[in-house]
Amino acid sequence: MKRLRLLVLGGTTEASSLASRLAGEPTVDAILSLAGATAHPAPAPIPQRIGGFGGVAGLAEYLRSEQIGAVVDATHPFAARMSANAVEACRLTATPLAVFTRPPWRPAPGDRWTEVATMDAAVEALGSVRKTVFLTQGRLQLAAFARAPRHRYIVRAIDRPAEIVALPDCKLVLARGPFALADELELMRTEKVETLVTKNSGGRATYAKIEAARTLGIEVVMVERPPAPAAETRHHLEAVMEWIAGWGDSSIGSLKLPAGGSGPPHRER
Ligand code: NAP
Repeated sequence: MKRLRLLVLGGTTEASSLASRLAGEPTVDAILSLAGATAHPAPAPIPQRIGGFGGVAGLAEYLRSEQIGAVVDATHPFAARMSANAVEACRLTATPLAVFTRPPWRPAPGDRWTEVATMDAAVEALGSVRKTVFLTQGRLQLAAFARAPRHRYIVRAIDRPAEIVALPDCKLVLARGPFALADELELMRTEKVETLVTKNSGGRATYAKIEAARTLGIEVVMVERPPAPAAETRHHLEAVMEWIAGWGDSSIGSLKLPAGGSGPPHRER
């Protein structure tokens, strides 16, 4: 039986769920790739490699030398460089590519969102009056807020960010999601948060902060996503499994395809 060599670009809950689904799958040899952004990544149920590939050329070389048959880009919607590299390296090597991502959040009744295109615009949106700001984007782009040192910042991250020294009035909360609504409400009440700054990551794991802000009437500065990668996109695990099955050997049977799921489909799921 021919086995499909599959590269999963990870660092997200989507990638973890796909890795769990692929573990023990007899027809697929899956490798999970992480950037090495967190010091202690959660253990993976499939083989993993850690660290950058060295741009488009490095990834293309990896795909060739490892004889990768298909790639699933399950990186974060804000990991724009990795996603763009994947599109180009897969084009160069004629490797099938699918994106596994979550849909963005949409404002619900009661939400007080200011939507901005960049983290710099988020800093501007905080205004000139001192306030308590909850930053949940982690280490990345934290330094942008050094331009607005008048605010009090509550910073939540998985590891201590070196960039935090640039914020004179700052409290660090070390935590890894998912987060419960009750905990988000308590944190925002205790710290008297007035504004939440977040990327529009989408998904359930970190949505409780949006619900908590709605409940407490807290304004949200929402940083919109970069343009989506130019590749076939799936939002649900089973739709990704269906896509994977389409690139494997026709004998793949244990992937438990939904009825009618054969061959690489081209509709957005
Ligand atoms: P990025 O800006 O798009 O990527 C920067 C470089 O990091 C890439 O060019 C690549 O280096 C390397 N890289 C990124 N993801 C990789 C992966 N899965 N495997 C191997 N190398 C990878 O990405 P980022 O925004 O720094 O995110 C880094 C990681 O954190 C990603 O895995 C992403 O899924 C995860 N993450 C990001 C965010 C976010 O808000 N950006 C949030 C949660 C999780 P080379 O060019 O050398 O190959």
